[in-house]
Amino acid sequence: MGSSPQSFEFPAWPQYGEEERNALNRALDQGQWWRIGGSEVDTFEEEFAEYHGAPYALAVTNGTHALELALQVLGVGPGSEVIVPAFTFISSSQAAQRLGAVAVPVDVDPETYCIDPAAVAAAMGPRTKAVMPVHMAGQIADMDALEKLAADAGVAILQDAAHAHGARWQGKKVGELGSVAAFSFQNGKLMTAGEGGAVTFPTRELYDSAFLRHSCGRPPTDRKYFHNTSGSNFRMNEFSASVLRAQLGRLGGQIDTREERWPLLASLLAEIPGVVPQARDERNDRNPHYMAMFRVPDLGEERRNALVDTLIERGLPAFVGFRAIYRSDGFWESAAPEESVEDIARRCPNSEALTRDSVWLHHRTLLGTEQQMHDIAAVIAESMAGA
Ligand SMILES: *Cc1c(COP(=O)(O)O)cnc(C)c1O
Repeated sequence: MGSSPQSFEFPAWPQYGEEERNALNRALDQGQWWRIGGSEVDTFEEEFAEYHGAPYALAVTNGTHALELALQVLGVGPGSEVIVPAFTFISSSQAAQRLGAVAVPVDVDPETYCIDPAAVAAAMGPRTKAVMPVHMAGQIADMDALEKLAADAGVAILQDAAHAHGARWQGKKVGELGSVAAFSFQNGKLMTAGEGGAVTFPTRELYDSAFLRHSCGRPPTDRKYFHNTSGSNFRMNEFSASVLRAQLGRLGGQIDTREERWPLLASLLAEIPGVVPQARDERNDRNPHYMAMFRVPDLGEERRNALVDTLIERGLPAFVGFRAIYRSDGFWESAAPEESVEDIARRCPNSEALTRDSVWLHHRTLLGTEQQMHDIAAVIAESMAGA
């Protein structure tokens, strides 16, 4: 059955080969290693935008900066509120808070782990400037409901697409959903240059505004130190862009494999008593599967943690899920809602539960063989029986 310790040999991550090597040499030989002098970042932006059905993409230093820059060009600043899911990586709220805005956490759906539109509606107020759905583990949030809410209220949607490279919703790519989207290329993400990020835009105006702000407010042709807007330096370098062009070439095939493996693994997990795999909203017709997620609702936090330790001992790249963002001290160091942790926890019961009972496996497991899906499920079943 192949479930003895260290018996798993999943594909390594990141994946790379001649394409990345050639790309790096190409960038090196340009003799200009920043975007203003070279062509790799410009070309990557075109290729990434096209792949996601967006008119424009801007490459940046990382996903956290991508979110921050996107919020800034959407007009978020001191006095604004940004509605974010309580169950997410902390960058979602940190990006808003770095701009002096209040991040308002709301609850997520207990099956898809994505932001709950009803909770968003309840949190909307006169200061709401943007809503930030996170496409959790590649599952697109309910964009139909969110777009309607946002349009009615006149607020922007910023998709945190750090898990959603190549995802589709009812035939539409992320960049075709009509709003701004932010991506990450950090080492573990679905395509990577170690670090990096990008923002896709539906209009030239937004791209131009973001370009200025990501380059110290300076137009690309400026030679006289005129800085037209406030800003910072979030520019991607040429090496990263060259590697990301090669990584983009691998993405589609990797998604195809994960899209075959996850339904099998999910069906096997669903048969294990006490295990509930992340559900899929069928409108999400291409899911790139950033994480293989499931819940163990009956164990409680300590035994969930012990289960993850056991899975790691048995050779699985397993992790506990995110902690609800308002349960980290850092959340309270910047602008935060005028509510106590307990108040927020009371209106976010699903995020509370996910903090205690969610588990995820690295997406490289889903690049493994069909047999390995059976072996993974067998290890989880045995470990659950022992938990
Ligand atoms: C990884 C991640 C980010 C931040 O990306 P970095 O490139 O690491 O800064 C933002 N949001 C979510 C949901 C993420 O998982």
